[in-house]
Amino acid sequence: MIITINQINQTADGVYPFQGKVYLEDLVEEEPNIVKLEPIQVEGEASRLDSHLYQVSAKQKCVGKLICSRCLTTFPTSLESSWFEKFTDKKELAIDTEEETIHLLIDGQIELELFVREQLVIHLPYAPLCKPDCAGLCPECGANKNEKSCDCNTERIDPRLAKLQDLLEDKDSVS
Ligand SMILES: [Zn+2]
Ligand SMILES: [Zn+2]
Repeated sequence: MIITINQINQTADGVYPFQGKVYLEDLVEEEPNIVKLEPIQVEGEASRLDSHLYQVSAKQKCVGKLICSRCLTTFPTSLESSWFEKFTDKKELAIDTEEETIHLLIDGQIELELFVREQLVIHLPYAPLCKPDCAGLCPECGANKNEKSCDCNTERIDPRLAKLQDLLEDKDSVS
């Protein structure tokens, strides 16, 4: 998906609306939490802010199949975000600082795919959950506790509490 500054400049009001799909299936190999990714639907506006300054504002959404970090089952989820970026075709106007980035365009072309990909990766959950209260797997027998319960005794004393308990016992033996 590419927008050219010619397309923007040819509009009467300097605003070029766009919509389309971006295919990023290869992310499945790079991101261990994703097992499947539908095409990303992108829509937005590319506009001219000044004679050599342009801005793209976009919304993107897609359905991805992720792996739950607790129970390891896969589940579909909607991945959405909106963003905007500034561009220039003049080298002197390009900036890349912490406060502001103005990307320098090569051949007057804005390659949306790069930004769509970056947004998707930034908004991926770090530890995806199939549901907020997912019960996870039993550490003893591996049963999915969302589906069935098991009789394993997995109650463990919190190591910090165990230490406290030791201290208390020591104290008892001294006095
Ligand atoms: Zn889960
Ligand atoms: Zn178990």
